Amino acid sequence: MTDAIVVGAGPNGLASAVALARRGLRVTVVEGADEIGGGTRSSELTVPGVLHDHCSAVHQIAVGSPFLASLGLDRYGLQWALPEVDLAHPLDSGDPGVLLRAVDATADGLGVDGPAWQRLFGPLADGFDALAEELMRPVVHLPRHPIHLARFGLRALQPATAVARRWRTDRARALFAGVAAHAFHPLTRPTTAAIGLMLTAAGHRFGWPVAVGGSRAITDALAAMLTELGGTIETGIVVRSLAELPPSKVVLLDLAPAAAAEVIGDRLPGRVRHAYRRWKHGPGAFKVDLAVEGGVPWRDEACRKAGTVHVGGTLEEIVHAERETAHGRMPERPFVLVSQQYLADPSRSAGNVHPIWAYAHVPNGYPGDATDTILDQIERFAPGLRERIVGKFVRSTTEMARYNPNYVGGDIITGANTPLQVAIRPRLALDPYRTGVPGVFLCSAATPPGAGAHGMCGFNAAESALRFLGH
Ligand SMILES: Cc1cc2nc3c(=O)[nH]c(=O)nc-3n(C[C@H](O)[C@H](O)[C@H](O)COP(=O)(O)OP(=O)(O)OC[C@H]3O[C@@H](n4cnc5c(N)ncnc54)[C@H](O)[C@@H]3O)c2cc1C
Repeated sequence: MTDAIVVGAGPNGLASAVALARRGLRVTVVEGADEIGGGTRSSELTVPGVLHDHCSAVHQIAVGSPFLASLGLDRYGLQWALPEVDLAHPLDSGDPGVLLRAVDATADGLGVDGPAWQRLFGPLADGFDALAEELMRPVVHLPRHPIHLARFGLRALQPATAVARRWRTDRARALFAGVAAHAFHPLTRPTTAAIGLMLTAAGHRFGWPVAVGGSRAITDALAAMLTELGGTIETGIVVRSLAELPPSKVVLLDLAPAAAAEVIGDRLPGRVRHAYRRWKHGPGAFKVDLAVEGGVPWRDEACRKAGTVHVGGTLEEIVHAERETAHGRMPERPFVLVSQQYLADPSRSAGNVHPIWAYAHVPNGYPGDATDTILDQIERFAPGLRERIVGKFVRSTTEMARYNPNYVGGDIITGANTPLQVAIRPRLALDPYRTGVPGVFLCSAATPPGAGAHGMCGFNAAESALRFLGH
């Protein structure tokens, strides 16, 4: 007899499984794909010996996750590695924005905007641990650090463009806009500053690290810990209905809300079904993995040393591109994220052939091929890239959704970051992890605190399940 069944072995599913197993429950995880990991899988996609992250790549939020940090996952092989430069943002003017772990070094590189950068991010980085504890919990809770939360909250509610206006140069404005664009939402809309502030502050606290051996090391470590605690994992079983599962005291679903509604079926209260079906998905991701001889020939030295490069030009260009994708129109110059994880973790390369991870923000369900648009954007700052490519693997929005059903229409963050969905996810409820069916919980990135390979949605859902069980 199993006490708890978790459907989906993404970072949240496995985090919830570990949290329950640590409290003595017998846990079984059922995963639809042939391997565990969800958005943290890594393998050779292009040429032998070159290791690519299929989805998540950079883990400032996983390192800052109070739950993951509490587990001592280094005992199960998880190691973080940092590049020399955390993030670079090239501009046509040839003066890139550069984010380094040290706030003062970053500020020094931002010229006249340095002092304003320091004033904003110095205190946020210093108070990051307390802030993470607040932001990674359910929205409704009694704050333990109300001052940190208030200081952050007042700015976070603003549009990213409002925060960007405190800087005068294109360099500082673009640097912040690129980080804020991780919200996958028009940067003129309220609350888009939140992601920019959080990820930049996390960068100044921890850097922007990668997992040695690929992002899969995060979920491999969680799986190893779960197995040690007596839990089991079964792969290759797509769950379509709760009725297919063996009896258990609780079930946790690492699924997108509409899929959870299907799996739960008629037992789901009407108001919850309505909310889950109305859950809005955001723009999609079009992913291109490259094997590149000698690496990307970036014009700027900072980009050649950077683990992450944001390719989108100025603040104004990024604002335009994000608005277009959110409205279902493919921009001529989309926002493109590039990761060069091998700089921090050389084990991913085969000799002088290096893995390059890139994706563009595109409209949800975008049916076209964005490969050339992505390569054009990168070549704008790295002429000659195409001549160095020796292997390529492409995943469109449709293929992304087929690869992982949680990524509806290629929405890799499992729900649009509209102001409403940032605050209330996935529905208005004191306990957002409860589905309204006793013993059945939602634990995916559609619940607070949202997307990322941090496992906090899973941990919070497990806490909710434990309360239900009277622990
Ligand atoms: C291209 C890309 C880049 C990203 N970059 C980053 C990044 O750099 N940093 C970061 O922190 N995050 C990043 N993310 C986001 C991050 O990967 C996700 O937010 C995270 O994986 C969500 O975890 P989860 O456990 O909620 O869901 P998922 O990781 O999506 O896992 C859900 C699991 O459930 C399984 N499943 C679904 N339906 C069923 C079913 N019916 N039956 C059984 N199993 C089922 C799926 O196969 C999957 O394994 C990225 C994602 C993508 C795709």
